[in-house]
Formats: sequence, structure tokens, C-alpha cells
Amino acid sequence: MSIIVQKFGGTSVATAEKIHRAARRAIKAKLAGKQVVMVVSAMGHTTDELLALAKEVSPNPPKRELDMLLTTGEQVSISLMAMAIHAAGHEAISFTGGQVGMVTDAAHTKARIRSIDGSRIRRHLDEGKIVIVAGFQGVTPDGAITTLGRGGSDTTAVALAAAIGAEVCEIYTDVDGVYTTDPRIVPQARKVTQISYDEMLELASLGAGVMHSRSIEFGKKYNVPIHVRSALTDTEGTMIVAETKGMEDIVVRGVTLKRDLATVVLQGVPNQPGMASKIFAQIAKHNIVVDDIIQNIYSQGAEANIGFSTTTDDAKEAAVICRELTKEVPIKAIEVDDKVAKVSIVGIGMKTHTGVAAKMFNALSEAKINIKHISTSEIVISVIVDLKDAEIALRTLHTAFGLDNGE
Ligand code: ADP
Ligand code: ASP
Ligand code: MG
Repeated sequence: MSIIVQKFGGTSVATAEKIHRAARRAIKAKLAGKQVVMVVSAMGHTTDELLALAKEVSPNPPKRELDMLLTTGEQVSISLMAMAIHAAGHEAISFTGGQVGMVTDAAHTKARIRSIDGSRIRRHLDEGKIVIVAGFQGVTPDGAITTLGRGGSDTTAVALAAAIGAEVCEIYTDVDGVYTTDPRIVPQARKVTQISYDEMLELASLGAGVMHSRSIEFGKKYNVPIHVRSALTDTEGTMIVAETKGMEDIVVRGVTLKRDLATVVLQGVPNQPGMASKIFAQIAKHNIVVDDIIQNIYSQGAEANIGFSTTTDDAKEAAVICRELTKEVPIKAIEVDDKVAKVSIVGIGMKTHTGVAAKMFNALSEAKINIKHISTSEIVISVIVDLKDAEIALRTLHTAFGLDNGE
């Protein structure tokens, strides 16, 4: 019998009525002959509220305890979901991440999945139950509760789908698919019917909040088709699948804005071998995810500014680590700028089309937007701009690459 995984995000389980609606959807799939695993997020804004509560109690709560607190949100929704299915006359059982063998590393608040034991889930599916799993959480080999980072329930869902061999992982959310950009910022955004894992991975990593980027890594690695769709309607959404030939015809599939960004620049570092290695070893040791690396050399090659971009939260921690580093490495000054944002264009068509960067820079120049830093990869061009220019830059590029609805 084929298995499907259905993941419901926070807004899709925000009230008792919405929980019933999600339950009905799972039951419908079950009655159509599928084995159904549901992955659910915390109700509505629960995670934000729990975080705010933690900040009220302590300005800098231990990450282990944050995880302990935040995972309670998902525990509320899985139990309520199981109750809703029982109330409708069907069998269901709920599990925490730890209970279904979702083993992670010990990087609290941004743990990575190491292994999943699908046997328990399969046993209950074979007994005819709908299995409900708490999203976003796992457990370390020695039993500490962890979370996978904000939005991590997508990753729970896709990783589970891979582990139990599901035919598809459905992501039910408050939009009816993946759009060319965030429709809340650009109302002219268009729904995309199909997108490759590589494009979606880049969009998600570069700010498209609709999917947790790590979920796409799992999808690609294990070839799990992912269907992003609305929790409120039966309309077909967006299929995230392996690349096909025709996909390259479209040069830019989507544009993104990453607001939660800061640059940390270490000024006046001696331009000698080993400096970057020392700096980035310390940064990596503290699990800080570095986005772009920025370096320029001056004083006739004697000194360099070495920097990187990262999340605004991590930038604060990074600045502290870099200040410590001044004991070992002669750094003249540390500059943190958290009033920046990154705007990117993404598309596998860039591999075969030329002049894309020129078109992008020209559009930004006509909109009088100053570019602070540029980075590129095979299917992405990104610019760092002042935060105040970011939304205009996004809209400008959306229009320039013909993505506006109706074109
Ligand atoms: P959930 O709680 O279901 O996980 P999220 O809030 O994480 O939902 O993701 C859905 C939201 O993602 C949408 O409401 C939308 O504003 C935002 N979003 C950002 N970029 C995109 C995009 N490219 N396509 C669709 N939605 C996007
Ligand atoms: N509840 C968690 C969050 O708000 C995980 C998720 O929704 O995916 O980030
Ligand atoms: Mg989400």
C-alpha cells in the first residue's frame, strides 16, 4: 500500500476548526487507500509566543532549555490532531520526534537529522492507524530534546517521507503553492506549477520562507516529490521535482529577499596565509552559518578586510567571538552592519543564457539602488543592498525578469 506524508503548518492547525479540517483531509486520503503520516507544526503563533515568554524570563536562555520549551508547541497539536481523528471515528496515534527515532546532532535550536528509524511508524500504519508526528523536533543519541530551526517541520516531513518510502510529501500551508516571490510583498507574484529541487533549495536558502531549505536537501537526495499546496482548497499546488530539460527555458524562476541579514567585517587583518583559516575555524566551532564571504585587500597588499554575512542573531554572537579572536589575530576593528538585506534571482536557465547579470545590475541602477556586495553561483545572482532599498529592489527585479502576473 502506498504511503503519503501530509504536513500541516502553523496557520493550518491554528484553531480547533482547522485541526478538524486537516484531520478530514488525512481521513479522506486513508479512505482512498493510502497509508497516511501527518506531520504537524505548533498551532498558529505558538512558537513565537513561547520564544517571547522565554525572553521575558531570561535575556539569554540556554539553548537546550529553549528547545525543551519550543517542542511543547508541537506536542499540543499532535495530541489534538489525534483526538480530532478519533472523534471522526478513525484510528490515529501521535508521537514526538524522539518517539519515532528522529535522531539529531546536539546543535540545539538548529540541529541536523542524523538518522530516522521508520519501523515504529510502519508498524502502526500496518495496523491501520493514521500516524501523527510532531514536526521540528528530534532527540540526541543521549536523549536531549532538540529542534531543527524555525520552519523545521517541513524538514521533519520530507525526511520522514524519505525514510519510510512515501510516494509524495504534501506540504499544506496558507498559500496555494510556491510563487515567483513572496506574494505578501509583491502582489503581482505568480504561482509556479513545477520547480526543480535545485531552484527551490536556492530560493528557500535565500529567503523564500515557504519551505525550510533543509527539507529540499532531503527531497533531492532521496528523490521525494514534494507538493506544496493550500490547506483550505483542493487546488493543485506546486510540484518540487528533479530537473527536466524544458525547465531551463525559463531564465529566472523566482526572486527572493533575505532581510534577517548582517555583515561582520574584520578590518585591518594582516594579509598573510592562515588568517582566514583562524577566523573561520572559530566561527564554525560555534555553529555559526556563514552566508557570503567578503574580502578586500589594500595598503599595497599588506592588509585585508575579511568579513562575512550571516543572520542578525548569529552576527551578535559572531562579533563576540571575533572580539575574543583579537587576542590571537591582530584585527584593527570589527564592524557589524545589520541594516542590510540580500536580494537574489534564481533559475536553472542561467546555466544556458547569457547577459543575466548585466540585465540585473542595469535594472537596479535604473532604480537608483546601490549594490554593496555581489555573489554568484551557477543558478543564482545575489546582491547585498541597504535594508531600506530591499523591497524596491525585489519588485524591480521581479518586473525586469518578466515575472509579474499577466506577462
Ligand atoms: P507554514 O506555517 O504553513 O509553514 P510559512 O509561513 O512557513 O507557513 O510559509 C508560508 C508563507 O511563505 C506564505 O504565507 C508566504 O507569505 C511566504 N512566502 C515567502 N516566499 C514565498 C514564495 N516564493 N512562494 C510562496 N510563499 C512564500
Ligand atoms: N513551529 C516551528 C516554527 O514556528 C516549526 C514549524 O512551524 O515548522 O518555526
Ligand atoms: Mg513553514
